[in-house]
Amino acid sequence: MKNKKTEDFNPFLNVHQQFDQASAHIIGLKRGLLDFLKFSKQTISFCFPIEMDDGSIKSFHGFRVIHNQILGPGKGGIRFHPEVTELEVRALAALMTWKCALVNVPFGGAKGGVICDPKLLSKSELRRITRRFITELGDNIGPYTDIPAPDLYTNEQTMAWIYDTYNAFHHGNNNLPVVTGKPLNIGGSAGRTEATGLGCFYATQHFLETTRITQIKSLKGARVVIQGLGNVGSVVARLFHKAGAHIIAVSDSQGGIYHNNHQGLDINAVFEYKRQHGTVVGLPGTETVTNENLLLLECDILIPAALGNQIHANNADSVKTKLLIEAANGPVTADADKILSAKNIPVLPDILANAGGVTVSYFEWVQNIENEHWSLSDINQKLKSRMNQAVDEVVHQWQKTGDSSLNNPKETQSQKPKAADVDLRTAALVVAIDRLAKVTLERGIWP
Ligand code: NAD
Repeated sequence: MKNKKTEDFNPFLNVHQQFDQASAHIIGLKRGLLDFLKFSKQTISFCFPIEMDDGSIKSFHGFRVIHNQILGPGKGGIRFHPEVTELEVRALAALMTWKCALVNVPFGGAKGGVICDPKLLSKSELRRITRRFITELGDNIGPYTDIPAPDLYTNEQTMAWIYDTYNAFHHGNNNLPVVTGKPLNIGGSAGRTEATGLGCFYATQHFLETTRITQIKSLKGARVVIQGLGNVGSVVARLFHKAGAHIIAVSDSQGGIYHNNHQGLDINAVFEYKRQHGTVVGLPGTETVTNENLLLLECDILIPAALGNQIHANNADSVKTKLLIEAANGPVTADADKILSAKNIPVLPDILANAGGVTVSYFEWVQNIENEHWSLSDINQKLKSRMNQAVDEVVHQWQKTGDSSLNNPKETQSQKPKAADVDLRTAALVVAIDRLAKVTLERGIWP
């Protein structure tokens, strides 16, 4: 039996490694400027008590991190999950900074989280946790300072409570822009719920159309595996299916299902079964597969859309996809990145692939400030154009500095890569860091 490799899953270390690798490709940035762009601006961490439905009292730990506000107010989701850590929140806040810079929205990066297990909490307990967390944050959030959004196990309802709580303490203002991802009739935007999945779909489609990944020419007929069927994964599954892809395996927290016939899974039946049983596992006519093995299935496109650190030093070598799309944040570790790169498996990185959510969050914020409601077609058109432009910029950077002939052995032989260590993630980070560095210097180092 092979020895297991030990890998540090510290997500903060992961994003710092990614930053260092990318910033080495940008000539002439001073050390102090790089440090400013790399480290978080502010971390708030606190503990608060909640009275539970049974009358007991439980303490919860929450975090909110602003990584950088050079381009505008902090922006980032709030997650409720038992495995939330301060380091994870700091890493995710940094990813938000790069993501916003990459899709050119005038926001900085932020993130929040509460250590809790929403599956074990009632709706009223979740409401009390949300209200208390937001009250503790006080004026650290605000429409022009730091704007939360949904993330793992938080949703429109959570965002409505956040708005309502903030509004209770800030009467007389238009407070709608303090949070995005709100329900439609409380200032939410058309298309926000689907935006991350739709942005992921647009980015994948445009990437396939504009690059030389010749083994997959389009989504039509592509065999796709999706880990996670939440907000993001379920939209991705529906859109890829509609575009003619064959979804051969999907999973949720309880496990996965697999059906490798010509058409793949019957997606409508998958969602109906999940609606009735709370999981996809057990859908008649499918094979059950563990979440670990699902990631190793042979396919054309693998889409992790659940948690971080899913593909790591110990399983990356067994991944058998032709293209990996990071719909989730941080699903591929730094060690796995190197292994996938050596296997010529391109990874469309999270800061590009899931940037659709923050893009439409920005549209929601603008609509709230202007008291406007844009149509869904208008929003999706704007989203598509931003995602395509970001893909073009990343691919251009990749072609300039890296190996853009992945998956195509003939081209690899005839056009030697200039820098084999430059993957799509590095290219995306180079675009983002370069943009942030320029804006920081244009604004001038104060005083
Ligand atoms: P969600 O809470 O709606 O869904 C999470 C899904 O993951 C659920 O289907 C759950 O069953 C599944 N899951 C949980 N543990 C799992 C496991 N061990 N194996 C397989 N599946 C598991 O969350 P979401 O909003 O869809 O977010 C998913 C990912 O996308 C997260 O990494 C999040 O940070 C990222 N993301 C979300 C948005 C957004 O707009 N919601 C935007 C950008 C990035």
